[in-house]
Amino acid sequence: MAVDERELILELFPGTPFDLLPPGEVLYYREGENVVIEEPPFRAVFEPVERPPLPRPGVCEACGRLLGGAFARYFRVRLAGARVVRYALLCEDTEACRERARPEVLRRILRKGILP
Ligand SMILES: [Zn+2]
Repeated sequence: MAVDERELILELFPGTPFDLLPPGEVLYYREGENVVIEEPPFRAVFEPVERPPLPRPGVCEACGRLLGGAFARYFRVRLAGARVVRYALLCEDTEACRERARPEVLRRILRKGILP
């Protein structure tokens, strides 16, 4: 099973880069105002940029749903040790979004938050 394989690799080679690991369980949740996407041991915290409503509708990057300006929000993540900031447009309702979002898409957003 992929999860066991992943755990084994991390135990033997703790510094294994994100891209070389087999996919694990991706967590996607709210922590206060922030949105966290996590595939242990990798974790990206996205901070809200502004409050809804946005001036125009947008497509959520995680679940692909077209959202009215009141239901979406821009989040930003700062790469550790870098002055690079990346943005993601996500549903305001993270729980509903998580039901719809595919793990490989969440993994791609996480990757954006941790890799240069
Ligand atoms: Zn969404």
